[in-house]
Amino acid sequence: MAKVQKIAGIRGMNDILPSEAPIWEYFEECAHDVLRGYGYKQIRTPILEATSLFKRGIGEVTDIVEKEMYCFTDSLNGEELALRPENTAGVVRSVIEHNLTYNAPQRLWYFGPMFRHERPQRGRYRQFHQLGVEALGFKGPDVDVEQILMARRLFDELEILPLKLELNSLGNLEERKVHREALIKYFESNRDVLDEDAKRRLYSNPLRILDTKNPDMQQLVEAAPKLLDYLKEDSLAFLRRMEELLSIAGVDYTINPRLVRGLDYYNHTVYEWVTDKLGAQATVCGGGRYDPLIEMLGGRPTPAVGFAMGVERVLEVMRECGFESAEPDTEVYVLHQGGNSQGYAMMLGEILRDAFYDVIVHAGESSLKSQMKKADQSGAKYALICGEEETAKGQVTVKCMYGDPEERFMKQETLDLQDAIQYFVNLNDDFFKEDEE
Ligand code: ATP
Ligand code: MG
Repeated sequence: MAKVQKIAGIRGMNDILPSEAPIWEYFEECAHDVLRGYGYKQIRTPILEATSLFKRGIGEVTDIVEKEMYCFTDSLNGEELALRPENTAGVVRSVIEHNLTYNAPQRLWYFGPMFRHERPQRGRYRQFHQLGVEALGFKGPDVDVEQILMARRLFDELEILPLKLELNSLGNLEERKVHREALIKYFESNRDVLDEDAKRRLYSNPLRILDTKNPDMQQLVEAAPKLLDYLKEDSLAFLRRMEELLSIAGVDYTINPRLVRGLDYYNHTVYEWVTDKLGAQATVCGGGRYDPLIEMLGGRPTPAVGFAMGVERVLEVMRECGFESAEPDTEVYVLHQGGNSQGYAMMLGEILRDAFYDVIVHAGESSLKSQMKKADQSGAKYALICGEEETAKGQVTVKCMYGDPEERFMKQETLDLQDAIQYFVNLNDDFFKEDEE
């Protein structure tokens, strides 16, 4: 047969292999615990949404909508669809559609893959994962601070603190309008320093120019008019209260006047958690308030605030901080000699699983010696041998696999099946008791 061409995975979209699964599972378990601790409930929305949702929900003049979205026409019915590049728009769509905030505010969280057509590099992928929260129906700033505390608690659990928290206020639409005029005037008088992106955004989204990563524009941007100087009493009071609550909670932060979201529906709170361990891809979590968005997407006016955490980046920081994920070992490996003893072994496996053990029953037939090698490689603490003789007598040979090799050899004993089962049940009971103490 001619050599068959292999089909490769898609660039920038990664497989998470079994060896990496434990760190993901650990992250997800910690996240669930922390989020539950603040009364947040999970919401799962589809990965595909109407393209128009993102155009309206994220804004036409953004990196995401201009050049990063995976859009296509469904060839079966002509619908314009997009793979979700983020999930605030999807969550808000769902909340409106199901009228979730009808008589109570909602604290929600999500976890899942997002898709952006970017140049793949460390910490930047085309399929990546976000853990996010959205609180809808809360005016803040208390809930804004609550979400910062949640993220801090999760980072603490994952042992990746300290991270830098950078905070800013985007004020409201009127304040931004006045600032925008000043900003355009300032950039117009420095037109020769602007790069292509900045020139294109000068009138459509000048705030976003402040966010540039171009080193040649840093000086210009540093000296640009600061939105903070344009905030009026209400917005300043909101920010001050937030700062008060943060310092009472002992959260360190710095005000970064250049931190922006170049979208009209963001207001007041905006922040980022930043690491010094990942080079250019330094932001592990971004959050902020978006009070006008729900109305813009057709819902009743509802204040809202949320964050999105880049999971791949958080895991990378965990690795940098020395997190080692141990693959969970199987506890028991059951050996047999085929025939009747195989069924006997499988039955024993079921009984032990009833007693909360993780069990591998050897599959297929091979010599006990080669099965014992497999048992050793599996990391199992116990090998249970159901040989022909044991099976015939209703017994099992228990071999303890931990300790040094000499000792291991000593710890082998043939027991009646009932006694062996009782032994393992007691072992787990003792373990649980110790755990309680
Ligand atoms: P950046 O400036 O790095 O492009 P962003 O402003 O586009 O980030 P957000 O849309 O705020 O990012 O998404 C929230 C978080 O999701 C980011 O802080 C980051 O941790 C993560 N993230 C965003 N894009 C990617 C990507 N392509 N690959 C991996 N993680 C990402
Ligand atoms: Mg981006």
